[in-house]
Amino acid sequence: MVVTGYYNEARSGRGLYAHPGEECGIFGAVGHEEASFLNYYGLHALQHRGQESCGICSSYGGRFHHRRGMGLVKEVFTQEDLLSLPGIAAIGHVRYSTSGESHLVNAQPLIFRYRGGELAIATNGTLTNAPQLRAELEAEGSIFQTTSDTEVLAHLVARSRAETLEEDVFAALNRLDGAFAFLILTNEKLIAARDRHGFRPFSMGTMAPRGKLGVATVFASETCAFDAVGATFDREVEPGEMLVLDDQGNRESLQFAEPARRGICTMEYVYFARPDSDIDGINLHSARKRLGRRLAREALVEADVVTGVPDSSISAAIGYAEESRLPYEMGLIKNRYTGRTFIQPSQGLREQGVKMKLSAVRGVVEGKRVVMVDDSIVRGTTSLRIVRLLREAGAREVHVRISSPPFKNPCYFGIDTPSREELIASRLSVEEMRQAIGADSLHFLSARGMVEAIGRPECGSPDRGHCLGCFTNEYPADTYEAAGGQPRGGEEEER
Ligand code: AMP
Repeated sequence: MVVTGYYNEARSGRGLYAHPGEECGIFGAVGHEEASFLNYYGLHALQHRGQESCGICSSYGGRFHHRRGMGLVKEVFTQEDLLSLPGIAAIGHVRYSTSGESHLVNAQPLIFRYRGGELAIATNGTLTNAPQLRAELEAEGSIFQTTSDTEVLAHLVARSRAETLEEDVFAALNRLDGAFAFLILTNEKLIAARDRHGFRPFSMGTMAPRGKLGVATVFASETCAFDAVGATFDREVEPGEMLVLDDQGNRESLQFAEPARRGICTMEYVYFARPDSDIDGINLHSARKRLGRRLAREALVEADVVTGVPDSSISAAIGYAEESRLPYEMGLIKNRYTGRTFIQPSQGLREQGVKMKLSAVRGVVEGKRVVMVDDSIVRGTTSLRIVRLLREAGAREVHVRISSPPFKNPCYFGIDTPSREELIASRLSVEEMRQAIGADSLHFLSARGMVEAIGRPECGSPDRGHCLGCFTNEYPADTYEAAGGQPRGGEEEER
């Protein structure tokens, strides 16, 4: 089996701007004359899920056409590039590394050539048993070309001896554990699959017919990508489901694994997904507002204004303000133009207080008792910085309210998190954290409060429906930690 692709000169995606933790985003379209253009717009809408690299692969004339590069979607693709990706089926990917190192060779879609033809794979998630499968496959003679665990799937497919490619993929998917949403493109078909717990969001949509083609089908990690391309949400890809679509508009749904205990990632609701997306029918902005409202009920404080940290905690801050009947104010401003590779101030300038990304609004916070709502504390660096910013701008008191419980445990299922020792909540009590970040008070939302506020219909209790592993250390599936499984380590945070 051969891995093919464009090996452009690798430009470090992280550069001076290291932003850990956003996972990957995938998009796919079949039955549309401008499939690669749809991918471009869809991936652009999913850019928040990964900024390190991106790629699109289309199928036309019995072969693949693809382009991958380091950087943002708008930086990697030109109009000419997209025109050179013809065909009515294409898949795409934006990547933040949750597994494997930061190189173009790991940029997706990964493309493989094997006896059955060509295979392009785009994925979001982490395969917890990838190290075991990889060792097993290597012992049997497989030669791996990348450090990405997605390649494990390709080798399993290549080694399967079933009659059709779909059967090969079906058998391979069955062997995978962990969190995954896959889009697999062959020269004739598009396959979508989701792990049996449904850890990562993954939806299917449809588009109105164009020209001679029938209804086009699109897939995306988040529904905001459907809005970006004018598609209509159809349904979620179900846990354990494999969908096979061809360019004639035929669609087949197979169950490669029995659905297991549902484990949608709670951090998707709290932080990752875009506020205009829906997961399982729940709009993210509304869910975050409810988190903020619940937080206000659990941890009210006398104050003058409420502010959120742009952009991720604004919805929760609005909810907190509404419930506590305090004014919501824009106490913090984010500069949108710092980009990925901004020049960081020297130590000297930094000490003078040169700030590139976030500023406090003196006119709003000066002399005020401020409630600062954020969605989570991971290492504690963001909260420490923001409390300091607010105080420098004259805030009289700073009360920090977090719209999720203390983040104490690493993620094994697709989110890049620091090691347990680096997670401030795993080392310090809430009072110690309050002192460490210099806040007047600090409160976290309870796990029950969080799950009830999110309001997924099947979740009557905190242990149903969600993965709460990072908060509770109870994961809905084997983490393979005992077998040497590792969470994926992040880098220094820069928000
Ligand atoms: P920290 O400074 O390490 O405490 O990071 C917490 C901030 O980063 C929060 O304000 C979140 O909005 C954001 N965040 C939460 N989880 C993650 C993650 N896994 N990766 C990157 N950023 C995150």
